Amino acid sequence: MSGGFAPGARVGVLTAEPLDRILDYLAPEGGCRPGDFVEVPLGPRRVLGVVWGPGEGGFDAARLRSIGRVLDAAPMRDELRGFLERAAEYTLTPLSAMLRLATRAPGLGDAPSMQKIYRRGAGLPDRMTEPRARVIEVLEGYGGLAFTLGELAAEAGVSPGVVKGLLATGAVLEQDTPRDRPYPRLDPARPGLALAEDQATAAARLCAGVANGVYGTTLLKGVTGSGKTEVYLEAVAECLRRGRQALVLLPEIALTSEFLARVERRFGARPAEWHSGVTMVERRRLWRMVGRGEAQLVVGARSALFLPFRDLGLIVVDEEHDSSYKQEEGVLYNARDMAVLRASLASAQVVLASATPSLESWANAEAGKYARLDLTARFGAAELPEMATIDLRAEDMPAGRWISPTLQRAVAARLAAGRQSLLFLNRRGYAPVTVCRACGHMIGCDQCDARMVEHRFLKRLVCHQCGETKPIPETCPSCGATGKLAPVGPGVERLAEEAAALFPAARVAVLSSDLFTTARALKDQIEAIAGGEADIIIGTQLVAKGHNFPLLTLVGVIDADLGLQGSDLRAAERTFQLMRQVAGRAGRGADQGVALLQSFQPEHPVIRAILTGDEEGFWRAEAAERRAAGMPPYGRLAGIILSAPEAKTAFDLGTHLARNDAPLRRIGAQLYGPAPAPIARIRGRHRVRLLIKAAKGAALQPAIRDWLAPVKLPAQVRLAVDIDPQSFF
Ligand code: ADP
Ligand code: ZN
Repeated sequence: MSGGFAPGARVGVLTAEPLDRILDYLAPEGGCRPGDFVEVPLGPRRVLGVVWGPGEGGFDAARLRSIGRVLDAAPMRDELRGFLERAAEYTLTPLSAMLRLATRAPGLGDAPSMQKIYRRGAGLPDRMTEPRARVIEVLEGYGGLAFTLGELAAEAGVSPGVVKGLLATGAVLEQDTPRDRPYPRLDPARPGLALAEDQATAAARLCAGVANGVYGTTLLKGVTGSGKTEVYLEAVAECLRRGRQALVLLPEIALTSEFLARVERRFGARPAEWHSGVTMVERRRLWRMVGRGEAQLVVGARSALFLPFRDLGLIVVDEEHDSSYKQEEGVLYNARDMAVLRASLASAQVVLASATPSLESWANAEAGKYARLDLTARFGAAELPEMATIDLRAEDMPAGRWISPTLQRAVAARLAAGRQSLLFLNRRGYAPVTVCRACGHMIGCDQCDARMVEHRFLKRLVCHQCGETKPIPETCPSCGATGKLAPVGPGVERLAEEAAALFPAARVAVLSSDLFTTARALKDQIEAIAGGEADIIIGTQLVAKGHNFPLLTLVGVIDADLGLQGSDLRAAERTFQLMRQVAGRAGRGADQGVALLQSFQPEHPVIRAILTGDEEGFWRAEAAERRAAGMPPYGRLAGIILSAPEAKTAFDLGTHLARNDAPLRRIGAQLYGPAPAPIARIRGRHRVRLLIKAAKGAALQPAIRDWLAPVKLPAQVRLAVDIDPQSFF
């Protein structure tokens, strides 16, 4: 066995336990190979591990224990092991934590449980009914493929009893099979839509990249509706034709239902799904099938990047600018950047698709590191919406109202024409602040340095930091006055109330993530709205992402200034992207759309750039500012977050770190802080931040490692390193 370890040889095993080192074991009977998934004894337990290489040799050989068994799973390939190592180095995360990300499915080594499947037998039943004929038609239509009872009954539109009834006739067979079934084959030879000229050019370029079988990243930029999805599905087809696997990352589970149906239309079968809504049994199936190359296309959330693909040829990061690609808890990584890393190790292509790319990707394309393809026109009749501001200083706005008379007239016109309007407000709940009119006290969270948000739908106050809720009190917790607590400012629930009052005959639907307990419920609601079951849609950021509402011709942004407040590095960029995305929802059908932005500062440069749509101008100005300030992507940042039950403990450590920053100074980096984090307390823990700023080429991670290595964390203190921070809360 080449590169294998003979029985009894000393091997290094990486486990997913929080140990941060590779442990030595003896190879089991039958030997093992690098990459093998194994079960090893650890103290009294048996844990999952991966054979990482030869043993270190430091540990007393006589006391070494033997690997329990080699699991029946495809070994982890060099490519994935290399990726986990590089990603761990980049994010300064223990390798064991990376392995945890790569093994997030239960019972990976267990023999799969069995289930019953149904396939076509022989002959026809004596008594043929229409439902029976449909079952047989479905089984024959899928060329020998087997179904579960539920799948078959649903596909044929019959009750399970009809299928069972056919068993006795021999026309349908029932068999036992392991649950980990391969996924239905996707057929890349099926024709896609006829592409417009610029779409065809872009698709050909992407396909050529995939055909070359080498690494490359392409920024695919095009307004919403220009056909980016159509174009990158061509690249997926090319990848499948070459027998390699493809991964499409999407920022939001809610997107997948529309997307999966689209893939099915294009390739004749549904792809494999990987996200938090997928059952454990399915996760395990996917994890195993992807390792054997039996899942050709995976559509998933960011963690799909850590799946053990047998031969990954293409990664699409759709809506690449989306901030949810940055994981903000546990391992802090940016899935967009990690996609590029993984592709470079797998000789795969990356497509970063967006209507409003991140400044990072824009700059990488500008610098020639990424190729760039632009789709300029919306497909077919759909035009970009007309954009205008509503100057709130000139509007007559009574207290407690947020829909201006101008916007109200525009909505009324859509109602009269049988069209939909979207009122966009990026604030969940009823009111962001509850204040006592007697003493001025604002109700805050007991655990966090944050105001409680009233959610009238839940009849509770909710902390958006920690999720803590409490009933809306009758009396002020500060001065005891009764009946004096009042909501201040709007959230989507309050806006819905206003819309219902202004337009009593209209059907108002609210789309906000907290109003849906399951992804399924949200999908259903989105589909119902797309089908015309609402006149006015009130939505948060959730609606900005890719949903297609053909009847929607007006977008009203309630507070275009909202994102511009605060000192976030990316405030301008985010507002620009979000407003363009939201506006892009209007007029995706045949009618021209209009987007109206309510603002108190219509002359603000960012608002002006949103209106004129001079994107390149906006990016150039933004890039010039960041370059002058040495900020990303022209410089590098890393955040250190210390948290502890007592503020002083966190501060003392921060001060100690700041005094001993020689390793940082050696690379010319500057250290800022310690300072209280903008949200100085979350879940009862006090938070202190330090910020490191370095030149673009500086070896930042090794310097941080050297700096932190001698630190002994006091009990109770947690330290997190955030490389390339996206948010600064
Ligand atoms: P994007 O991903 O840029 O938002 P899509 O690929 O979703 O754009 O395309 C927008 C709409 O236009 C979709 O409904 C899509 O089916 C349709 N479309 C795009 N290109 C074509 C084409 N070449 N022929 C027919 N319909 C197309
Ligand atoms: Zn809280």
